Amino acid sequence: MINREAARQADKCRFCWMCRHLCPVQLVTGKEINTPRAKGLLISMNERGAEFDADMAEAMYECLLCDACTDNCATGYNPPLFIREARTEAAVLGLLPEGVEAVLNNIEKSGNIYGAEKPSYAADKGKEVLVYVGEAAAVRAPEMVRAYLSLLDKAGVAYTVLENEPASGVMLGDLIGYTEEVREQAAACAAALNGAGAGKIVALDSYDAQLMAEKYPEWGLELAAPVVTATSFIASLLADGKLQPEKTEAGPAAFHDDDRLARFFKEYDAGRAIAKACGYEKVEMYNHLALAKSAGTSVAKAFMPEIVKKVSAGRWDDLMRTEAKTMLVASPEAYDCLRETIPEGYELVDLFEALDRLVK
Ligand code: SF4
Ligand code: SF4
Repeated sequence: MINREAARQADKCRFCWMCRHLCPVQLVTGKEINTPRAKGLLISMNERGAEFDADMAEAMYECLLCDACTDNCATGYNPPLFIREARTEAAVLGLLPEGVEAVLNNIEKSGNIYGAEKPSYAADKGKEVLVYVGEAAAVRAPEMVRAYLSLLDKAGVAYTVLENEPASGVMLGDLIGYTEEVREQAAACAAALNGAGAGKIVALDSYDAQLMAEKYPEWGLELAAPVVTATSFIASLLADGKLQPEKTEAGPAAFHDDDRLARFFKEYDAGRAIAKACGYEKVEMYNHLALAKSAGTSVAKAFMPEIVKKVSAGRWDDLMRTEAKTMLVASPEAYDCLRETIPEGYELVDLFEALDRLVK
């Protein structure tokens, strides 16, 4: 049984088509069931007595929780609210799709969605900043992590990276909704972050940053230091002259705004400032800033790789409608998804690596 507010919103959403053109999953699958309103309709049918079955559960997982629908909703509804609730319902009823079960098994085995040992980037260089790497970056984008830490070294930032960094709870929260288990994960993470005694928490992955900044306080988990995004921190080091890249001209390129940076943090300038410092000439894709189309997420890629491949290819289609041949990212999750589908003649650039090459 989903909560009353989620059920109310699902009921309101169910006859509306206003945001269907923004849903990246609907766009690449072409399935009516993947519109936000269809998911609302399924939930409202369940509220009226229809059985919550395996097909319904499957439909609730064909969503990236990207919030493009929410952000564009004139009436203020939030489909990820009821979709997450429905995922909890699927877990409670034992109706999780096979791919989701496999990812949950990985978490149980290794503590992360990959079922692999999470590499450690432990550092104890001071307490100005605690860098929270996150599992997507640690496992799937080690070059990005190394470039980021190298930039901090060059800027003279005194930072710490935890030896055993606990999961933030964001992956589990996207998989099964905000259950007690997720809150327990978050509480353990908050305790570890507070234990570091740093003045600032810089989260390399905006998905972790969003959970820490939005949900931790809602759950009574107070962090002793503010959470800032990796992009905004590097942009501040550039603005303060602590990072001085060589001047260069790198040609036209478009920055991809990742979902949570765009929709939760409403942060648009920092990534573009880093791109400018790397010498790129600004080009914008059709859907950018708050309307940015998702390129996929690491957790969705883990349980529905084929759909995420189509979604990331869809983002490359947006770039191909511009004069640029280069896509810029500063998100380990977007990097992880987009690099699977790079079209011939195009390139994907991690901005932290690009900047690190230009700073001596
Ligand atoms: S989120 Fe808003 S715009 Fe989208 S279907 Fe629901 S009510 Fe309509
Ligand atoms: S959150 Fe994103 S993927 Fe999910 S229904 Fe809304 S627009 Fe579609």
